[in-house]
Amino acid sequence: MAEKGAEKKKRVVVVGGGVSGSLLCKTLHKHRHLDFTLIDSKEYFEITWANLRAMVEPSFAKRIVINHHEYLPGASIITSDAIGIDGDGEVSTTEGRQISFDYLVIATGHMGKCCVTKSERLKQFEAYYEKINSSESILIVGGGPTGVELAAEIVVDFPAKKVKLVHRGSRLLEFIGETASKKALDWLTARNVEVILGQSVDYDSSSDGAYLLSGGDTIVADCHFKCTSEPIGTSWLKETILKDSLDDFGRLMVDANLRVKGFANIFAVGDVTDVPELKQGYLAQRHSLVVANNLKLLIEGGNECKMAKYTPASSPLATVSLGRRDALAQVRSVTLIGRIPGMLKSKDLFVGKTRKQLGLQA
Ligand SMILES: Cc1cc2nc3c(=O)[nH]c(=O)nc-3n(C[C@H](O)[C@H](O)[C@H](O)COP(=O)(O)OP(=O)(O)OC[C@H]3O[C@@H](n4cnc5c(N)ncnc54)[C@H](O)[C@@H]3O)c2cc1C
Repeated sequence: MAEKGAEKKKRVVVVGGGVSGSLLCKTLHKHRHLDFTLIDSKEYFEITWANLRAMVEPSFAKRIVINHHEYLPGASIITSDAIGIDGDGEVSTTEGRQISFDYLVIATGHMGKCCVTKSERLKQFEAYYEKINSSESILIVGGGPTGVELAAEIVVDFPAKKVKLVHRGSRLLEFIGETASKKALDWLTARNVEVILGQSVDYDSSSDGAYLLSGGDTIVADCHFKCTSEPIGTSWLKETILKDSLDDFGRLMVDANLRVKGFANIFAVGDVTDVPELKQGYLAQRHSLVVANNLKLLIEGGNECKMAKYTPASSPLATVSLGRRDALAQVRSVTLIGRIPGMLKSKDLFVGKTRKQLGLQA
């Protein structure tokens, strides 16, 4: 029986326990006026910007794959895919549950097939390591930050491996400036990475370590890693009440308070939003802090006019690690490469900082 005089807490549902969802939940955890439920496809949060290091050093994965219960003790966490939202304020999941909400936050980032349990994911990093260790030649497909960082991790830790990188675009790291692309290319080629631009891999016509390129050539490699971008994680919203809030790119249209346009009680954060800025984790975390403040204000009966506004990042701040000591950084129009930007990121890859944000030991 409810305690006499006990207030009815507001129910907040957060869908997606990635970079933005995890920090949002941590910020809301133990707030006395709300009960939140996190729905995530997997039972853990993973520090994405460190996961390429874990492929060459699997023990590193133990610090970056964090069970949601480790930083949200006692919280209500459902490991399942959300598949629907209806007009009665309920989210449905693949396992057939209906979870009611007063406020909802969508934080489903980018899709990508991943392991559901932490132990499966740790084993997967071991398997990646074995694959790299046992191969003499390695093909990396995709020259965005993931492909470039993986190539760098491999050549730094395994300088004798023959690494080839195939990229569909005309330059590496197209999300930042041309100077940065050129510096990344020079850094990799100086370490004997063979970079092939303007071509893609036809997997259907590739077999037994022979990969057919769109230009007609064949590349031979003992193994390959696909480092191309994943689709945005909003396809599950297409048949829901939010279907008309998706733009032509499948992103959720949000207002300055990060509320989904047309809905007073639904917010969106991170890569799923149409905020005009690069899709980066540190910005996704900033979204979370804005939404946490707005939820607290609304739940405590504050005036909507006082909700925090999010200002999109106007100039890109991007750091691409290049192995354990070097990095490439672009801050506004300035591009730096080598040990100095490397001191910012490459040794610990912000793992200690991210763990501390979640209240864990660095
Ligand atoms: C290899 C790599 C390196 C990166 N390096 C950097 C970097 O150095 N700096 C930087 O700022 N950014 C970096 N990024 C980008 C950064 O990781 C993303 O911008 C960030 O993860 C976005 O956060 P998010 O919360 O929007 O989504 P995500 O972190 O992608 O989280 C989405 C979550 O939603 C869950 N989910 C998806 N669909 C559903 C569903 N239907 N139901 C339930 N759960 C669902 C997923 O399981 C996941 O937990 C990197 C990304 C990658 C992949």
